[in-house]
Amino acid sequence: EMTLADVSVGYDGNVVVKNASFKLLEGQIGCLLGPSGCGKSTLLRAIAGFESLMTGEINIDGEVISSPSRSVNPEHRFIGMVFQDIALFPHLTIAQNIAFGLSAWPKEAAQERVIYLLSLVGLSGFESRYPHSLSGGQQQRVALARAIAPKPKLLLMDEPFSGLDAKLREELVPDIRAILQHEKMSALLVTHDQMEAFAMADQVSVMSEGVIHQTGSPYQIYHRPETRFVASFIGHGD
Ligand code: ATP
Ligand code: MG
Repeated sequence: EMTLADVSVGYDGNVVVKNASFKLLEGQIGCLLGPSGCGKSTLLRAIAGFESLMTGEINIDGEVISSPSRSVNPEHRFIGMVFQDIALFPHLTIAQNIAFGLSAWPKEAAQERVIYLLSLVGLSGFESRYPHSLSGGQQQRVALARAIAPKPKLLLMDEPFSGLDAKLREELVPDIRAILQHEKMSALLVTHDQMEAFAMADQVSVMSEGVIHQTGSPYQIYHRPETRFVASFIGHGD
């Protein structure tokens, strides 16, 4: 589980994320939902370890991984990442891409994990193909398999579906949710698309101008908005 307590992040003294606090329980899928520029990616990068904290603390499974005086290296946080621009390694096969984070594993165990993940994401038989020969949606599935291969404690996804057309998103969203639930993996997704947030997440945090207005289930956010901003962003009546 992950806890954010009073987390502020900024650039050159400008505060971009202000006193963010919420908790993500083990096996849950959380979502940061808010308009462009509100600080979603900044907060995600802070969790990943690429931005330092001005105030507060980020805690994963009882360990402080970030505070103004402490920052665990990104590679020691056991966090997997999927970003908007897919960036598979073009010169590596699909199997090699997925095995990239498994260099410390015994060879046979790594191979088994790759085969298992390919079937999990619906791409059995693709191991020897190269990324350029796959569709955008297929590449995104490989990126997900690669990110969860080393069994990270937490998976971060920044607008992972934004490059895909509407039909493909509709297919991918429930699939990815099922995969994460099957793997019992905690994940935090960033989106500005309310439908995507509601379809994917157990818990939604609504952000505007660096402030988290409300964290709750999709039902709570939709039916019991706690601020004017949440009510208008969720768009009752239109
Ligand atoms: P989007 O939905 O468009 O991706 P976002 O919610 O992810 O937006 P951020 O990328 O976190 O927003 O940006 C929040 C604010 O911080 C913006 O005003 C942006 O200009 C600023 N910002 C982001 N990265 C930097 C940086 N490296 N240096 C300075 N300012 C930055
Ligand atoms: Mg962003």
